[in-house]
Amino acid sequence: MSGAFGLLTDQHATHFPPDRLVENRARLCSFALHRAGAFAADGVVTEVRWGDGGRRLARQAPDILLGDIRIAVVWDELKRPWFLCPRCQRRCRHLYFDEIACRTCCAGGLDYASRHVHRSTPGVHRIARWRRQLVGLGVDARPFEPLPMNSRSTRVRRLVAKIIAEENALIGHLGGVNRDLHRRARRRGMLPK
Ligand SMILES: [Zn+2]
Repeated sequence: MSGAFGLLTDQHATHFPPDRLVENRARLCSFALHRAGAFAADGVVTEVRWGDGGRRLARQAPDILLGDIRIAVVWDELKRPWFLCPRCQRRCRHLYFDEIACRTCCAGGLDYASRHVHRSTPGVHRIARWRRQLVGLGVDARPFEPLPMNSRSTRVRRLVAKIIAEENALIGHLGGVNRDLHRRARRRGMLPK
């Protein structure tokens, strides 16, 4: 999956370490645990598995115990439960393994893959540069504006042809990313199979 973002396969990309991507980390979700009944009553024990490991998550109101780590749970006005990160005490919905900490507290900080797509998606910067060149030639080349296909200027026609070819390649690439995300969402039960 990460290869789809060019993280592993694109030699020229600025690499963000894959293990610091939110999407690649197992995590506890307070909403999901609530739906599963993990906070329903004192003493309820939920088995939590990730990777090869697993731990017992025991409700001990108002907290939960994950192994011997105590995690405070607070409720908002919509009766939704939130963790307080054991390290910074900030309210969060997700705690990440293996640190059992929020996104910010995990070593180096975790980030979303979507924030790194532009850095590593081939062509995005080239297209932006060519569009800027068109603007310099007096063409309205903002994204989603129709490009002049039959300009009298050879330079404009060449730039337009390059942009269209690159954008088509990009659409194909993002379609692949999209398919991967859908597949993963279905696997995790976030979308119907
Ligand atoms: Zn934290």
